[in-house]
Amino acid sequence: MKIYNTLTKKIEEFIPNEEGIVKMYTCGPTVYSYAHIGNLRTYIFEDILEKTLDFIGYKVKRVMNITDVGHIVSDADDGEDKMMLASRKEGKKASEIAKFYTDAFMKDLSELNIKKPEIIARATDNIDEYLKMIDVLLKKGFAYISNGNVYFDITKSPNYYELSGRCDENNLIGARDDVEEDKFKKNPADFALWMTNSKFNNQEQKWDSPYGVGYPGWHIECSCIAMKYLGEKLDIHCGGVDNIFPHHTNEIAQSEAYTGHKWCNYWIHGEYLNDKTGKMSKSKGEFLTLDLLKQKGYNPLSYRFLCLQSHYRNQLIFSYESLDMAQNTYDKLKNKISKIKENVDFSQKIELNKEYLQKFTNALENDLNTSNAITILYDIIKDEKLNNNEKISLIKEFDKVLSLDLLNTNELELSDDEIKYIEEQILLRKNAKMNKDYETADKIRNDLEKKGIILKDTREGTSYEVKR
Ligand code: AMP
Ligand code: ZN
Repeated sequence: MKIYNTLTKKIEEFIPNEEGIVKMYTCGPTVYSYAHIGNLRTYIFEDILEKTLDFIGYKVKRVMNITDVGHIVSDADDGEDKMMLASRKEGKKASEIAKFYTDAFMKDLSELNIKKPEIIARATDNIDEYLKMIDVLLKKGFAYISNGNVYFDITKSPNYYELSGRCDENNLIGARDDVEEDKFKKNPADFALWMTNSKFNNQEQKWDSPYGVGYPGWHIECSCIAMKYLGEKLDIHCGGVDNIFPHHTNEIAQSEAYTGHKWCNYWIHGEYLNDKTGKMSKSKGEFLTLDLLKQKGYNPLSYRFLCLQSHYRNQLIFSYESLDMAQNTYDKLKNKISKIKENVDFSQKIELNKEYLQKFTNALENDLNTSNAITILYDIIKDEKLNNNEKISLIKEFDKVLSLDLLNTNELELSDDEIKYIEEQILLRKNAKMNKDYETADKIRNDLEKKGIILKDTREGTSYEVKR
């Protein structure tokens, strides 16, 4: 398999440390609010990567963390504490906030057919691991204590800027007069391993340590959780591109300082989902969650389909128009498959067509080219030389990776959310018509039509039909 490695900036042949086994770590969510669909794009890409590796015969051991400890947006003390902020806003304990949003995240994963990683570890369950690593880093001279906090000295890490490709100057340019904490650090880019003294001293979640009562820095959790479950050598580490610096950069620095050898061979990053105004954020504009899409009548798997139509290393601009198109195409695809399925004798055992299987595998092995993989699916549907049994067998096989429920064709039944949404729209349209606002009324009809919901006005009222 060939995959782009952020560390070498090249597409490389993937070779794991141990034959046949892949040790994979993926950064998980910070559970202080719902995941937005940008975050979910990254988890979809990681899911495809894991399933592709599995498909081509590797045994994948995957670990993901859940960041459930309050912490700062940046390493510096100038960020805002996400968990504390949410606690205050919602009037709940940090642990309650974390539990609520972890559950919401798991639901999102399941609705997007994302396989849950084999091991999911909470940051707050691994404090001892962090203290063990910090102790070694201090003893080896990579870390120092200043103003009550433990910091990692980045000048001790010779390849510190290798992953991000930034140059050392950033460290100096980054010297920020306005950041109180920088006064206590040897270098502005030094990052906290343990904090006992910060402007967030009223932290709810604190633990005792040899350095005083405090809480861990952000980066230490991923290094320690990865090593606890996967050992001192990783094959793959993933995340979104925003994780490259500083998060993954700092993970490498502390892990390699700790072990004394190279830690992870392949760093694989997914590009952003943006909205039209730029980067999607949890605080800006309409907060795009999977739930919101569902309330608007979209099937979560249409969103998965939309993501798979583009390459994980290209930015994707989200719009409802593109989601409408994806939903339409996805529904039509399933309709076609449903027709093929009608004439299949499932009792017959069919051998998979090797040529198509190879083409599909090639697409994925070529730096996860999911859109090409989908094109091959269409080629199969069109191919008159294949019988329906052969087609369905291949589609079933491909869906092990694509996970689009391609053979599950009873979807014409609407979900409760979809029914509620349609009924609301019908009522809005009726009100618009009563107010002679025909433009709005027509828009509602057309928007529903794009989703395959056809309205029918009768003397008794408005009914609808699903045409997907
Ligand atoms: P967070 O919960 O903020 O730690 O982010 C979870 C994951 O989503 C990380 O791997 C981020 O790199 C990724 N991410 C954040 N924003 C976006 C975005 N707009 N598009 C794609 N991935 C993102
Ligand atoms: Zn991480």
